[in-house]
Amino acid sequence: MSSVHEQIPATPAAALAHILTRIAQARKSAVAPAAPVTLIAVSKTHGPEKIRPLLEAGQRVFGENRVQEAKAKWPALKADYPDVELHLIGPLQSNKTREALELFDVIHALDRPKLAQALAAEMEKTGRRPKLFIQVNTGEEPQKAGVAPTEAPGFIALCRDDLKLPVVGLMCIPPADENPAPHFALLAKLAREHSLKELSMGMSGDFETAIRFGATYVRVGSALFGARTAH
Ligand SMILES: *Cc1c(COP(=O)(O)O)cnc(C)c1O
Repeated sequence: MSSVHEQIPATPAAALAHILTRIAQARKSAVAPAAPVTLIAVSKTHGPEKIRPLLEAGQRVFGENRVQEAKAKWPALKADYPDVELHLIGPLQSNKTREALELFDVIHALDRPKLAQALAAEMEKTGRRPKLFIQVNTGEEPQKAGVAPTEAPGFIALCRDDLKLPVVGLMCIPPADENPAPHFALLAKLAREHSLKELSMGMSGDFETAIRFGATYVRVGSALFGARTAH
């Protein structure tokens, strides 16, 4: 998806240490005093043999973009590392909300009323209440998930006030071919206006920029695990 402009360090532990250093440095150059930043290690497409070394190196927060793939990989890993925090960062179909609630601690791609209603209903039934991010399509790209920025206020109100969903913040994926900074700034502004504390923004190619604009969660895949073959 995005280019990684540096060599991947030789071991997973070294790659992790390197990313954590870059996060710490980016926080120092943030526009406003930077909030703590949580690194989500995006392990989609990678098998347990690639994930375990990061767990052994102390990483506990991971992201997957498909419910089925996560279901196949994570129950065994979670049995060995019960304090893992698993984030669903990809789109969620309303008919998979039960499975998603069972497996994930945080869900990032809430973007339509039907899904919000399905999540509210399943939360009521199961008592599981993962934290939620509302995805905003800051670039208004037709093929991309997320609510349009102009629709965000109404959708935030529906989720938070009407459905009482545990919405903690906003998430975006800027257009691949644009400067991401204005998109991060827009997401940060929307979050501020609605008193939402968390900002999920920034990937391998742009997480330092995202941190300068106030990211509290960065989603980093290829800079940690190396290139993915496909997805
Ligand atoms: C794959 C993915 C990432 C990680 O992308 P990299 O460029 O490999 O860091 C981040 N966020 C989402 C939503 C993704 O699907």
